[in-house]
Amino acid sequence: ITKDGKELRSPICCILGHVDTGKTKLLDKIRQTNVQGGEAGGITQQIGATYFPIESIEEKTKVMQAHEKVSYEVPGLLMIDTPGHESFTNLRTRGSSLCNIAILVIDIMHGLEQQTLESIRLLRDRKAPFVVALNKIDRLYDWVATPNNSFRQSFESQKASVKSEFETRFTQIKVALAEQGLNSELYYKNTNMSKYVSIVPTSAFTGEGVPDLLWLLLELTQKRMSKQLKYLTDVEATILEVKVIEGLGTTIDVILSNGVLHEGDRVVLCGMNGPIATNIRALLTPPPARELRIKSEYVHHKEVKAALGVKIAANDLEKAVAGSRLLVVRDGDDEDEMMDDVMDDLTGLLDSVDPTGRGVTVQASTLGSLEALLDFLKDMKIPVMSIGLGPVYKRDVMKATAMLDKAKEFAVMLCFDVKVDKEAEQYANEQGVKLFSADVIYHLFDEFTAYQEKLLE
Ligand code: GDP
Ligand code: MG
Repeated sequence: ITKDGKELRSPICCILGHVDTGKTKLLDKIRQTNVQGGEAGGITQQIGATYFPIESIEEKTKVMQAHEKVSYEVPGLLMIDTPGHESFTNLRTRGSSLCNIAILVIDIMHGLEQQTLESIRLLRDRKAPFVVALNKIDRLYDWVATPNNSFRQSFESQKASVKSEFETRFTQIKVALAEQGLNSELYYKNTNMSKYVSIVPTSAFTGEGVPDLLWLLLELTQKRMSKQLKYLTDVEATILEVKVIEGLGTTIDVILSNGVLHEGDRVVLCGMNGPIATNIRALLTPPPARELRIKSEYVHHKEVKAALGVKIAANDLEKAVAGSRLLVVRDGDDEDEMMDDVMDDLTGLLDSVDPTGRGVTVQASTLGSLEALLDFLKDMKIPVMSIGLGPVYKRDVMKATAMLDKAKEFAVMLCFDVKVDKEAEQYANEQGVKLFSADVIYHLFDEFTAYQEKLLE
């Protein structure tokens, strides 16, 4: 509850960046508690996310009191666990409240890499506020570590040569960011947060800079997004993943950004072959880490309140589309209208399909990743003939064979962040449909254009 009596919910944070920059390690470090033993500071593992109650954040950011006023108004912070594009692309250009703030991780030794550029493009397209974690500062030559210290304090006590190496690398990265059209500044020198991206130097190894990062995430979300963080009773929920679980059937992992879900609630969501309406059979989270008495894999809840990650078991979820919204049907709601509404998430993307029926076939993992790929292809002026979601099967490749006679250069499938079935691959080979598969959009594009050029020769 804030001073003016508003109830705020926990901000939701996503993490993204190039492979090997330390996203996983950084999340692990943030999850680690300074409290020996005990209840892990109340930090709870949820479905697809970790919840940090404000007490644990206060503990972790104590060292910041030397530099900043530390006062928190939100109940906690929810961090989405899947680092990389998978979770982030679920933040769609419209409609999704999955992520309030993102952390873009850059390796201080490597600077901007290919997926960094792609991440910047995603962040920009989705107008998502973000901070940069400039990670691996412990690798600066002769760095002397003080575990879990604030960056500022640790940096002050370094030798002149370390400071100078930092300055050099930092400046290079600032220039590289500027080349991408981003003004940036060290977070504590940043006086214009809306114009300049804040950079927090971190080490996922020593934990240095992690207090700074947590403090900044809360500071930015509380100060600049308190409207978005106002707790609403209306349910806002996004499907992260669709998973088959033994004994439960097909389940959906959902991030609940606002409102309350109850066991038995009637819900409506977007399905591959049309809208799905079903009733929540079970609301599940993992058992508390230290609760050894609980043998089962999940704890059941009668109701859950935002913000949190939860697994939902229900009938008819087999065709649920990851990245789509989940709506709750309350008394007086028009279920049919809501069905149309959730399907708009998918049918809206069909506008990207070329009306002349010429173009490439694309397939992606979630609505968000499909949208990202389609946006990119549009920018590149590559026409799209057909779109699909989920793993690639033979029937998907069959769609692309239609181009073999019409326009050979488009007899290709661009598969973004999805598995390609063996049989599908074999079939594509036999038919002469070229399959490109990658989890970086640029790679798909580069391979595709190289292929086209070869065909033209
Ligand atoms: P991800 O691909 O972005 O999730 O990167 P990981 O978290 O898997 O880290 C990639 C590699 O970098 C691993 O070998 C980590 O141990 C190492 N690494 C991550 N963070 C740091 C750091 O702050 N300092 C150092 N020295 N190594 C790190
Ligand atoms: Mg990782």
